[in-house]
Amino acid sequence: MARKTKVEPSTDLAASSERSDESTAIPGIATATPSMAQFLEIKAANPDSILWYRMGDFYELFFEDAVKASAALGIVLTKRGKHLGQDIPMCGVPVVRADDYLQRLIRLGYRVAVCEQMEDPAEARKRGSKAVVRRDVVRLVTPGTLTEDTLLDAKSRNYLTALHLVPAGGGFALASLDISTGEFEVGTAQSADLPGELARLAPGEIIATDDTLRDVEVKRWIEALNIAATPVVGASFDVRSGERALKERLKVVDLGAFGTFSRGEFAAVAALITYVDLTQIGRRPALRPPRRTGPDAILVIDAATRASLELVKSTSGDKHSCLLGAMDQTVTASGARELAGRIASPLKDVVAINARLDCVGYLVETDSLRDKIRDQLLQAPDIARATSRLALQRGGPRDLSAIAQGLRAAGAIAAVLNSEADRMGLPDDLASIAARLIGVPDTVAGVLDQALVDDAPHLKRDGGFVRSGYRADLDEARGLGADSRRIIAELEAKYVEATGVRPLKVRHNNILGYFVEVTQLNAKPLQAAPHDTLFRHKQTMANAMRFTTPELIEIEGRIATAGDRALAIELEVFNELAQAVQAQEAALGHLAGALAELDHVCGLATLARDHGYVRPIIDDSTVFDIRGGRHPVVELALKASKAGAFIENDCMLGAKPHTPTGFDEQASGRLWLVTGPNMAGKSTFLRQNALIALMAQMGSFVPARSAHIGVVDRLFSRVGASDDLARGRSTFMVEMVETAGILNQASEHSLVILDEIGRGTATFDGLSIAWATVEHLHDVNRCRALFATHFHELTQLAGRLSEVANVTVDVKEWHDEIVFLHKIKPGAADRSYGIQVAKLAGLPVRVVKRATEVLARLEKNNRRANGGGSTLEDLPLFAAAPAPAKTEILTSAALSPLEVALADIRPDELTPKDALEIVYRLKSLVR
Ligand code: ATP
Repeated sequence: MARKTKVEPSTDLAASSERSDESTAIPGIATATPSMAQFLEIKAANPDSILWYRMGDFYELFFEDAVKASAALGIVLTKRGKHLGQDIPMCGVPVVRADDYLQRLIRLGYRVAVCEQMEDPAEARKRGSKAVVRRDVVRLVTPGTLTEDTLLDAKSRNYLTALHLVPAGGGFALASLDISTGEFEVGTAQSADLPGELARLAPGEIIATDDTLRDVEVKRWIEALNIAATPVVGASFDVRSGERALKERLKVVDLGAFGTFSRGEFAAVAALITYVDLTQIGRRPALRPPRRTGPDAILVIDAATRASLELVKSTSGDKHSCLLGAMDQTVTASGARELAGRIASPLKDVVAINARLDCVGYLVETDSLRDKIRDQLLQAPDIARATSRLALQRGGPRDLSAIAQGLRAAGAIAAVLNSEADRMGLPDDLASIAARLIGVPDTVAGVLDQALVDDAPHLKRDGGFVRSGYRADLDEARGLGADSRRIIAELEAKYVEATGVRPLKVRHNNILGYFVEVTQLNAKPLQAAPHDTLFRHKQTMANAMRFTTPELIEIEGRIATAGDRALAIELEVFNELAQAVQAQEAALGHLAGALAELDHVCGLATLARDHGYVRPIIDDSTVFDIRGGRHPVVELALKASKAGAFIENDCMLGAKPHTPTGFDEQASGRLWLVTGPNMAGKSTFLRQNALIALMAQMGSFVPARSAHIGVVDRLFSRVGASDDLARGRSTFMVEMVETAGILNQASEHSLVILDEIGRGTATFDGLSIAWATVEHLHDVNRCRALFATHFHELTQLAGRLSEVANVTVDVKEWHDEIVFLHKIKPGAADRSYGIQVAKLAGLPVRVVKRATEVLARLEKNNRRANGGGSTLEDLPLFAAAPAPAKTEILTSAALSPLEVALADIRPDELTPKDALEIVYRLKSLVR
């Protein structure tokens, strides 16, 4: 189910505390206490969010919010006071553990309005004892607007996507922003491509109008992909304000440098920015220049293909046994995010792909350069997320330190790259990375290094992060504090001496401040002359008595003032540093992007080096020529389990396999029909070729001996059976919907992988559909295709359709057992060996034996029905072919004596003598 939350963008949350005119409409507000009235007003302005209401060290939740949250978080529900005669349910979350609880609520699909105290309670008290501390909502936390590391997956992007249905059949415009990094992309998708586009972006949250979200297909896909959906008002999709906001945020007067934007795209950008402003209450996240996406720039891959190829997660949801898991050799979280983004969005432009390949190729050849870069990258924290938190005023000293550390690493890497450039010259993409790494003036890192202690704390509120020696006034304030502590120790010694009470101690707590503490037994001397004028009684405990003195009060004042002053100075330093960082926001964004790109290309080069991948040749042709190809994920799994080597295979679409010597490259076989036994490796072969194409177009080397690929415009994969009962589609229906999508969209430049089309229905229906599908792919789509099937009748199409060729996966039979060779060779399989595979899988012997009998009977009947002729000629007769009568199938009477004798043999139970006797018996039956 899609997680759905609701908010009206026109709501001005920032002004919520000034809504006295509206407050009369809130039930019970007139009779509420001032603090309850404040709560009710703020809650009324945020009806769709759970309101976290800051009270000291806790966020308190009241009424329905408390009931919902206590159930969701498993925290105690209590009550506090009454409202309209009813108890007020309440629960609380300690501020120090807020992130944990926030994460859990967001995961459960809630949105949270965080309401903070906007002034010190002491300030409020100055206005009178009944004055209420000023509070306001500072942020709406929604699934698509997270920034805290604890709430985010370090290695995944978290997009907020605005989806705009363009009128008059213009498809959809999409604008996506990851506010945790500033990554931003804008593009369009035709309606049929929307599911693939949503699967590619994998947003944490989608915003769209109610009408768009009600669209059956949109709703279906948002639910299928489990994306949180938030309706927003149509007015926020305003073309003019989108254009204006984009120019303003990117600080340009003309957007020409970023390409041309359609009206629909501007509208989507407008809604995106409005929603960000609304949820961040006016604080502005960093925004990097938009990446342009859409069918012209990116290899189009539909949602089903993405899932079936297991690109960024396996079908079971595991992130390791997928292409991303197999390819990820990055050493930073931002590099891993970049890799995931590139796997999801391979390119179509030959020049851009080759530029990426140049970059990887260069790093493949220069081991020591790569090692030096990766050593430095290991030191580089996540600059993008730190910068974004600072821009949203949610950052802490550790974010500043992270930026300093990242800048140092970037500088070191730039130096390494530039000295390499002097020596050998760099490919363009690498030179561009090197230039972006030095875009931030050295002074920024310099001042951060000077100002911050080595291991800066996460939060700024307790201070302790500014290095001593950085600010004289801070050193002085700190000195005063330290000095006062020495004076306290001296005072304690003086009081002990004066009173003769040895166990006398000067202690401190938050309520009393500093005080003298003695046991009850030792209290007398302090209460008697002459000391009674100095020690004033403060508190009596069970075993102790506490006193204060004028000197302690004076020192306490000094310490508190010095501490407050030191903290104020530190916060001032923090703000200065944060401003210095923010002034470089754009350059830092470029630098963070460059580090991520560099990590990802170094990772690709390491992968290529470690696993023997090669550089593919990519051009505008329709060639598909892979020699010695391997499946990147299965190969790794076999290596890890030491289950034997992966057997490499060739795939030359356009070259027709030619028996018996091998593949004839002159002949044309754009569509290969792959037959072979179950478990032989057909699906693996199909997928590996799709993955190799995808890897090549994302700019990676590929697992093969050589690869030449004419750029693919759309990649389709329909592998395996899956049903979608929740959405009311059976296995067969899903299969047909996906097949229809392929047949309607594949072009001459597409690559299509089809595995076992037509298996989910009656044999003859299925065969007929598969047959017609091959013909359509061949005659109409004219795409490159691999088609695996157990319908052996289809292999006869190779003789009929000029560009269809047969290949099969080799197996050997040995002693009634089957041995998988996993080798693709020209030709067609004669049968599926399904029963042998079932036997390997441990089907009971009795069932295997019976299946063998039935198969023999069916084959005999089929031969008879076909009169021994070719299936091709007889195809129209299939529908009329009589199904064998149930009684016929169940009896073995129709089997020949030889077949019956063979079926009775249980090889595992034979002694050598039995075996010899059987051979004689069988021979006698043949005669
Ligand atoms: P079915 O027809 O039953 O769906 P299949 O022919 O599609 O089977 P796959 O699922 O591709 O067979 O492969 C079965 C197993 O064989 C894989 O899980 C893998 O472990 C192994 N395998 C496949 N291809 C190779 C290969 N080229 N080298 C080594 N092992 C392989």
